Amino acid sequence: MSIKVQSVSKTYGQQLALNQVSFTANKGEIIGFLGPNGAGKSTMMKILTGYILPNEGEVSVAEIDVLSDAIQAQGKIGYLPEQNPLYADMYVREYLGFQASVFKVSKERIEEVIGQVGLTPEVHKKIGQLSKGYQQRVGIAAAILHNPEVLILDEPTTGLDPNQLQEIRALIKELGKEKTILFSTHIMQEVEAVCDRVIIIKKGELLLDKPLQELKGSNQQNVEVTFDYKIEEQFIQKLSNLTSFKNNFDNTWHLTFNAEEDMRPAIFDFAQEHGLKILELSSQNQSLEKLFKEVTAS
Ligand code: ADP
Repeated sequence: MSIKVQSVSKTYGQQLALNQVSFTANKGEIIGFLGPNGAGKSTMMKILTGYILPNEGEVSVAEIDVLSDAIQAQGKIGYLPEQNPLYADMYVREYLGFQASVFKVSKERIEEVIGQVGLTPEVHKKIGQLSKGYQQRVGIAAAILHNPEVLILDEPTTGLDPNQLQEIRALIKELGKEKTILFSTHIMQEVEAVCDRVIIIKKGELLLDKPLQELKGSNQQNVEVTFDYKIEEQFIQKLSNLTSFKNNFDNTWHLTFNAEEDMRPAIFDFAQEHGLKILELSSQNQSLEKLFKEVTAS
């Protein structure tokens, strides 16, 4: 287990930031940590990286207890805080060299990481001259210098333009091939593009923890439709992309489709072709965006 968080609570004075949060991450998973502003994402990340202590609970990273052994745990964790703390006046290689000295990382490793995060074309520049996207790459490079098992990225794509966004997402995905990554965002599409698993928190409470595939339902759509007449199974079976159907001897059908497009218009066309009228039609399929809005709505 790469990350284990058990019943973690944290208050700042009167402000409850986390309330009994528990989750785990397996080795190699990319987890999207979603929630509206103030949900407690940064607080959770600071606790995971050993920068602040919870009031209650247990936290381990790479099987090391972060609360009792923060320094050792930090050897297994790479962390990119929300405000990427870079030195604008330093050259890229100079900054990474400075960071590397903290972890006693070799010069060869610095060069390897520069290549890995795609910094080679900009390596001769001062950090202050780089675009926000390249500055994020420097932050990510610094976070992975010591080759940590777990990478924690706090809103790594906030403030990036669409091209940079895509590049950083691709980099996260690439790094996720060998590391466990927990990254926070408030953009649902980002999670869809990058993650294996989604954790949603709101007001310090964990609302959802599920594999992305399960949330997407593998393009599964459940539709319930009521026609004005009873029709035979053989007609219903003519609907395209239909994977299963059920009807309780009345005019209502529970249909399951496997399709990327919304099947409701096709059901309307089908009804018209067969001279039927639709009395009720509902689709229980939820896009991730809708789900996110629903679970985080106040
Ligand atoms: P998120 O990262 O999801 O935006 P945070 O973890 O930053 O959420 O904040 C969670 C809650 O804790 C918020 O209500 C925030 O105002 C509060 N909070 C965060 N840091 C501090 C702090 N240092 N002092 C007081 N309250 C804080």
